[in-house]
Amino acid sequence: MSKYWSDIVRQLNPYVPGEQPQDQKYIKLNTNENPYPPSPAVASAIQSYPVESLRRYPDPESSELRQALANYTGLEAEQIFVGNGSDEVLAHSFKAFFQGRDAILLADIGYSFYPVYCSLYQVSYAPVPLDSRYRIDVADYRGANGGIIIANPNAPTGIALTLAAIKDLLDHSESLVIIDEAYIDFGAESATGLIAQYPNLLVIQTFSKSRSLAGIRLGYALGQPALIEALNRVKNSFNSYPLDRLASATAIASLQDDEYFQLCRKRIIDTRNRLNKNLLDLDFEVLPSSSNFLFARHALRGGADLYAGLKKAGILVRHFKASRIENFLRISIGTDDECAALVKALNALL
Ligand SMILES: *Cc1c(COP(=O)(O)O)cnc(C)c1O
Repeated sequence: MSKYWSDIVRQLNPYVPGEQPQDQKYIKLNTNENPYPPSPAVASAIQSYPVESLRRYPDPESSELRQALANYTGLEAEQIFVGNGSDEVLAHSFKAFFQGRDAILLADIGYSFYPVYCSLYQVSYAPVPLDSRYRIDVADYRGANGGIIIANPNAPTGIALTLAAIKDLLDHSESLVIIDEAYIDFGAESATGLIAQYPNLLVIQTFSKSRSLAGIRLGYALGQPALIEALNRVKNSFNSYPLDRLASATAIASLQDDEYFQLCRKRIIDTRNRLNKNLLDLDFEVLPSSSNFLFARHALRGGADLYAGLKKAGILVRHFKASRIENFLRISIGTDDECAALVKALNALL
């Protein structure tokens, strides 16, 4: 703290990411990264990248990447906004659509970055409790509000809403609805197909999880052109060049290798289903996951205790101290070997 800090900075409560130890000694199942490398097409795009071109600024509109995403999603390029990770796209969205409005609605147990953006942009919010089984009930989102943001599948629960539920939410909402689909490729249905019908729907996706590209920082928003224009107005008042040239080339290469993408996705889903069963056998309750992680609590042992025991055994998982979830562990799906090591360590601990 210093007298030079602004009032807003004094009041910030910044996001705390999962541990990112810079040595290799842990099996890392704590930040929902993909256990598999990016597509070989990504490796060759980077290796053959014309370094000479880096002296030039990138295309401020990222036209080539937006066209590639348009082809991939079946939307038009003018319906797509790209940014430096979906966290940046989310931040711009809070600024573009939520700032200066009534309180927005968000799940009381959800992605903990949303309240952080609220504090940065002085947006007020009303937390909507998950039901007794940790699910979102869209009927709870019908009160007056300045906007709605929901992660689907939700984090850290991993539970997905059906497309019918999202449609029901939109049918009863006058305000802007953001669906954060960071984990959509691991088993839930995307709301992208509803964009033509709903001018108040913004869908946000990322290359970080299902495309193994957390390190390249690339996220995007999908919505009707008027919403995309709002995001561009914010972006062009903040940083005209959020995506570097290598990031765009990398993302385009990843989109071109659908076979590899489908293979990794399927592998992770298969491993998740096996680990789910292993955890049930060890007396865990496991929430039904449509994501690349499991949220589970043991019948007898507390979450903090198991987290610490696993860390000692060289395995990092995520533990949250918040009420109602303090006995859960959020376990990212690793390779089969990594998950087997986890099961072995849990067996020893229990
Ligand atoms: C990981 C995650 C993000 C952020 O992804 P980046 O694109 O890496 O910034 C956004 N929303 C949720 C729910 C996430 O879990």
